[in-house]
Amino acid sequence: MSFYRTYRPQVIGEIDNVAVHAQLLSLLTKDKKHLPHAFLFTGPRGAGKTTAARIIAKLFNCLKPTKYGPCGKCEQCVSIADGRNLDVLEIDAASNRGIDEMRLLRDSINLAPSGAAFKIYIIDEVHMLTTEAFNALLKTIEEPPAHAVFVLATTDPQKVPATITSRCTGISFHRATGEELMNALKRIVKEEHIEIDEGALTLIAGSVDGSFRDAVKTLEQVSFHTGKITKEVVATLISASDEDIIARFLDALKARNAMPALTEVATLTSQGKDIKFFMQSCLGALQKELVTGADVKDLIRRFVEAYGMMKISPLPELPLELIVVEYCGPVPIKPEGRVEGSPSTPASPAGGSPNLGLLTLEKLTEHWLDFISALKPYNNSVAGVLRSARPKAVDHGIVTIEAFYQFHKDKLSESRTKDILVDVLKKLFGEKVKVEIILGKK
Ligand SMILES: [Zn+2]
Repeated sequence: MSFYRTYRPQVIGEIDNVAVHAQLLSLLTKDKKHLPHAFLFTGPRGAGKTTAARIIAKLFNCLKPTKYGPCGKCEQCVSIADGRNLDVLEIDAASNRGIDEMRLLRDSINLAPSGAAFKIYIIDEVHMLTTEAFNALLKTIEEPPAHAVFVLATTDPQKVPATITSRCTGISFHRATGEELMNALKRIVKEEHIEIDEGALTLIAGSVDGSFRDAVKTLEQVSFHTGKITKEVVATLISASDEDIIARFLDALKARNAMPALTEVATLTSQGKDIKFFMQSCLGALQKELVTGADVKDLIRRFVEAYGMMKISPLPELPLELIVVEYCGPVPIKPEGRVEGSPSTPASPAGGSPNLGLLTLEKLTEHWLDFISALKPYNNSVAGVLRSARPKAVDHGIVTIEAFYQFHKDKLSESRTKDILVDVLKKLFGEKVKVEIILGKK
């Protein structure tokens, strides 16, 4: 069994996330009758949400609780830890958007628990539920039977409707600090008798962007090394995997194949990798090719330019994505009625972009789906939100987008989201516009 599963914290005392540890301990001061029956766990992946959700399940159903919380040893605690407890249902909303599960939940929730005192519903990535599934969930959370407990978890709380969040006790999971990661790693090192020095552990903790899961996985990978594990051993392992990414990224770029290159960037971003360091490494690789006579001058210039842009970019990955999109050519849309540089092209009154005023509501409506698919590599969840929004007006360089849910409007109105929308609109239609989001009536 993997380190991550073997050493998953089983009782409150083993939770390394200090803030979460404290919040769970504070629940112990309450009588079980007065515990909240709906929780919302928010925070990045790998921060320990599922682990804590199972501990909540034990908190309600442990047969021999101590003053420190669930025992971790009784039949209930052990079967919950193994994921085979009939009264603890774990639902992954990301896999099929939860429609069938929510129906099942609604139909089965009134049945008494099979062996325990409470039925615990753990719904992971709850923001992925469809509107229909959200509504079904809301109905059950509004009037739950006394034996039902909900633990909802999400990496994207903005997308959970306020009608749900307002009924939950929130616990937020921040990225693990270096110290918290070190504590988690040291517990495993001790149990597994791994020969590893402090510097090597610090390097692992510093390379995982606060994810307990990634830290433990990296430790497991390096543990296969024979002999003492030093900082150098870890550094080689971590950089080796990065070399593969750099090679794949540059190959896709040189083949002017935008999608796989953008996918690599998305992976880097989601793993919290240092984009600046990645760009330096790409430049290093290109420099090596330059001296062999390869035709990479154009790419090198673009990287140098993008590197400079990083200081002012609101999103660190954006300059890198621009290299891809610009070098691989425009997104294929027929430039209807628009001829670059033709005499009939109206000049910009502001003296800025020569294309000002060419984007119309008709054109945007016609290419709305192209717009959404062009956005996807930048931000998949924003693309998802846009699918249920629509262009409302284009006037004097302002594009108004109509959203139909408050949380959609909030998501699209975030300044970093707006920056992406503006950028992709510019890529597609050659015009720098402002974006306004309004809330429409369904
Ligand atoms: Zn127990």
